[in-house]
Amino acid sequence: MAKLISGVKISAEIKNEIKEEVKELIRVKGVRPGLGVILVGEDPASKVYVANKQKGCEEVGFLSETARMPADSTEEQVLNQIRLYQERDDIHGLLVQLPLPQHINKNKILYAISPDKDVDGFHPVNIGRLVAQQEGFIPATPAGVIEMLKREKIEIKGKNATMVGHSEIVGKPCALLLLNEWATVTICHIETKDLKSHTRDADILVVAVGKPKLISADMVKDEAVVIDIGINRITKDMADEKLLEWRKEDFEKKGSTLVGDVDFQEVESRASAITPVPGGVGPMTIAMLLKNTLQSAKRYAGIR
Ligand code: NAD
Repeated sequence: MAKLISGVKISAEIKNEIKEEVKELIRVKGVRPGLGVILVGEDPASKVYVANKQKGCEEVGFLSETARMPADSTEEQVLNQIRLYQERDDIHGLLVQLPLPQHINKNKILYAISPDKDVDGFHPVNIGRLVAQQEGFIPATPAGVIEMLKREKIEIKGKNATMVGHSEIVGKPCALLLLNEWATVTICHIETKDLKSHTRDADILVVAVGKPKLISADMVKDEAVVIDIGINRITKDMADEKLLEWRKEDFEKKGSTLVGDVDFQEVESRASAITPVPGGVGPMTIAMLLKNTLQSAKRYAGIR
């Protein structure tokens, strides 16, 4: 059976470390890290993500503010809110929760955020810094994957790593980070022919697609490390007998459950280590966002 890599446990460790650093930063420099979040519209999942970010900030002693804007806000209004946060000395990191309503040009908004407060790491300047291996902000989810591997003392250097998924915010930066750690990286996407031939070759398999059971046991190398970034909500009517039984409690309480892209129950017996969903990469994302915000506040305070 694979070792379970718990994002709940690792993210709690990271948050404790951040909490201590925050106390020190306030004591020595009088600087309390601050995160500004902009939420446009009423998307239910976005509301949950934003609430979790706020909760994370409170846990570690950050200032956190959320600007909640109506769904019909104009691009100019959102840009204005970015400017307001950007000008403030007590806001060291800011982010705009995605997705944005259709009428708003996502790139125009994301590119308006100063790279030095862009704690999501989505600005092209930060993506360039990642490519050039210079100091900058690394998108939280991919950063969380590497942090998990490191804290679990899983060697990356020299390993074959396959990244399934090539989105700007997850797959591509994650592949780059693995490359920066000296893995030999293969990137797969929706047009990849014979996905299995690439996943079977992976010592480290990272999956970020959004399709339940995309990865079955026969697609995984024996003793591979499997990191499942995918998050899929499965309602009772979508679930098979096995899942209904396994997640009985969730279905009874909430009528749905969360699964990743990997067929966990099958793959668990083949892999050497695996992340669960929920409780794997998910909690790491918030921890790494907080880490980015702390890094920004430290830079503001003149600490490198
Ligand atoms: P996306 O839709 O932008 O990208 C999906 C990627 O999957 C694309 O690169 C696409 O080419 C690839 N793909 C689609 N079908 C495929 C197939 N059959 N075979 C191989 N590749 C295929 O999604 P995203 O924003 O990168 O998110 C991916 C998943 O990760 C989603 O489930 C999302 O909810 C989850 N996610 C989790 C966290 C977290 O904190 N754990 C954070 C961000 C995203």
